[in-house]
Amino acid sequence: MRLDTPTLFLMTVVVTFMVGVLFLLSWGQARRTRALAIWGVAHLGGAGASALLCLRNTIPDSLSVGLGNAMMLGAYGLIWSGVRAFEGRKPAYLMALSGGALWAMACLVPAFYGSLAMRIMLASAVAGLFCALCAAEIWRGRHEPLASRWSAIVLMAAYALLYWVRVPLAALAPLPAATRSQDSPWLAVLCFAGVLFTVAIAFVFMALTKERAELKQRLAAETDSLTGLANRRAFVGRTQAHLAGRTRPVALILFDLDYFKAINDTYGHAVGDGVLVAFGHAANAVLPKGALLGRMGGEEFACVLVGGDAEDATRAAEQVRATIGRIALAAYPRLRIRVSAGVAATRPGETGCFDDLMRRADSALYGAKDAGRDRVVTAAAMPEALAA
Ligand code: GH3
Ligand code: MG
Ligand code: MG
Repeated sequence: MRLDTPTLFLMTVVVTFMVGVLFLLSWGQARRTRALAIWGVAHLGGAGASALLCLRNTIPDSLSVGLGNAMMLGAYGLIWSGVRAFEGRKPAYLMALSGGALWAMACLVPAFYGSLAMRIMLASAVAGLFCALCAAEIWRGRHEPLASRWSAIVLMAAYALLYWVRVPLAALAPLPAATRSQDSPWLAVLCFAGVLFTVAIAFVFMALTKERAELKQRLAAETDSLTGLANRRAFVGRTQAHLAGRTRPVALILFDLDYFKAINDTYGHAVGDGVLVAFGHAANAVLPKGALLGRMGGEEFACVLVGGDAEDATRAAEQVRATIGRIALAAYPRLRIRVSAGVAATRPGETGCFDDLMRRADSALYGAKDAGRDRVVTAAAMPEALAA
């Protein structure tokens, strides 16, 4: 099968233009995602560049070869800028456009401009570099769990490789002097791959932005806005999931700040809020790694320890209680924070039910309140007869 270069060029122009418009339309609906605007402009620039390259032999070479490739490299740079913006970094526009500028300057040197091999090597090296930088940038942000991230890394790395393979090939197997670049089989391959990559990039980048928006929404729905901890719904859901696994024991600690109403009444609601936030920070700092702390509502918090028994949980609760008791606020020297805690745990192999665990931890907490507050009480283990 022979790939017809002019048809491929036309397809590249139209597809790249459409992808650019698609990005800009998406940006119109999500103005805060600046990356979409940058990718949109990059693709429109890329479409313009393809059009100039397409008109080779119809328009002067300085426009087609010179400006066309400079714009193309600028477009790759901008795609990288968009990826940086997506990852929350500065878009670095100057760096992004430096590839195109380098190309334009090199074209002023007759020895370079007259050598097809050198032109191919420089353009491919720079385009490949920006693709590789995109892959690296997306890799850097891997702590954010977006499923499409891995497809994006593979895609951009593969695109970089495709360009870079061209560099040694142009040096080792230069085209005969008479060969016109349009007749190069590489051009058809690159053009064909370019269209595929453009469509794939559009899909993957759109998926990345959509996944991030969904992740943000999900996190917001699961997070307590004051303390940043898991809210009741998320906490209950995750604890139930641990209990359903049932391979390891699960311990639950319920915390309730003592005389919190008095703190609000004496110092005001805002200081009360600050105390709730301080509790979250201080508790998280001393709780064992892997413990999940959540705010159940008001001044009540809960912590689940997977793999921990009642003894571990009691020790952890005691540490939180002691740490909280040491908090001193310079602005309110008489303010003391105290907390009571109730602990309940399942045993290995025990059929733990969240409601049951909660009920036992809750009565232990009431036991702590009844006994004078500022203490940790551990619920007795479930009677063997019930622990089936
Ligand atoms: P106890 O030692 O028995 O636990 O007494 P307490 O005062 O801590 O408990 P009580 O249930 O009487 O009061 C809880 C208070 O917590 C009442 C409510 O106004 C306050 N509260 C609930 N949510 C918030 C909040 O988000 N911010 C602030 N500042 N206060 C809150
Ligand atoms: Mg309470
Ligand atoms: Mg209380």
